Amino acid sequence: MPASAFDVAIVGMGPVGAVAANLLGIRGLSTLIIDKEADVHPLPRAIAFDHEAMRTM
Ligand SMILES: Cc1cc2nc3c(=O)[nH]c(=O)nc-3n(C[C@H](O)[C@H](O)[C@H](O)COP(=O)(O)OP(=O)(O)OC[C@H]3O[C@@H](n4cnc5c(N)ncnc54)[C@H](O)[C@@H]3O)c2cc1C
Repeated sequence: MPASAFDVAIVGMGPVGAVAANLLGIRGLSTLIIDKEADVHPLPRAIAFDHEAMRTM
């Protein structure tokens, strides 16, 4: 698939990249998201989050 098939490219699928890709998808934009790691981070990191993060999730 040619790169021009995507509206947005995001490098890095941490929480910020993953949320951005989902919000863009909800708005109808096709998004290519890539990460240098093959897997998700092995440790839990969402021990606490604020009201804005909770609304986004
Ligand atoms: C032990 C621990 C506990 C935590 N607990 C909490 C918590 O309870 N609540 C909270 O709000 N925050 C917590 N945090 C902080 C939270 O994890 C970070 O704020 C958050 O992960 C930052 O998200 P990010 O998407 O900006 O960056 P990252 O999570 O660092 O994601 C960046 C991604 O980009 C990828 N990447 C980097 N360079 C490249 C490249 N050149 N090419 C391709 N991919 C690349 C990386 O592999 C990574 O997947 C914790 C952090 C740690 C370490």
